[in-house]
Amino acid sequence: MTEQTLQPLDESWQTALAVVAHPDDLEYGTASAVSKWTSEGKRVVYLLATRGEAGIDGMAPDETVRVRSQEEIDSAKVVGVDTVEFLDHPDGVVEYGLPLRRDIARAIRVHKPDVVITINFGMRFPQGPANQADHRAVGLAALDASRDAGNRWIFPELLEEGHEPWGGVKALLVNASPNATHAVDVGDHIYKGVESLEKHRAYIDGLGTDVDPEMFLTMIANAVGAQFGCDYAVSFEVIGI
Ligand SMILES: [Zn+2]
Repeated sequence: MTEQTLQPLDESWQTALAVVAHPDDLEYGTASAVSKWTSEGKRVVYLLATRGEAGIDGMAPDETVRVRSQEEIDSAKVVGVDTVEFLDHPDGVVEYGLPLRRDIARAIRVHKPDVVITINFGMRFPQGPANQADHRAVGLAALDASRDAGNRWIFPELLEEGHEPWGGVKALLVNASPNATHAVDVGDHIYKGVESLEKHRAYIDGLGTDVDPEMFLTMIANAVGAQFGCDYAVSFEVIGI
């Protein structure tokens, strides 16, 4: 039997805010866990920093905005997420900074999540190559905003907008982290995750390479499952807030 290296994720929360840079970021793994959670009655809200308008080489940004926004809304619905919000920062050149932290902190005060979910924002993807700039900016801002949201003296303009502090975020859950510590057995929800990724058809076709969502997602979830003692699992690095 394979040695179990990942701990079971604490799932005793009710509401999560998932914060990422682009349409499709949550569909490369996280969505299978989201499907499990929403099927159990938990509430998950998606917050995207951009609409992914720089993501399709052969499509003009104004058309891509429309296409990828809808693909994200459709893929969220597959895994039980009805609320998808966009911050409309510019795709590809998202800046880590106070405006981004403020925007995420505002959403945290509005939705009052117990946990915030994001994806790897380290220098590298787990496989080794450099991580994408927007991922690094948005993940770090999500971490900081999780704490900012609870302090009434940070971003006082949010108070003026009527958003009282929310200090209830217990942890940041980081999917696809090279430093994963915990995992969730997603079972058959892996196939909801596959269906969710398949909604990004225009984006996948635009990549110009053969991406098979089922093969890709089951391979990753299977590898994590081998470290966790099940067929299909999704891993997270847990950072306490
Ligand atoms: Zn991305």
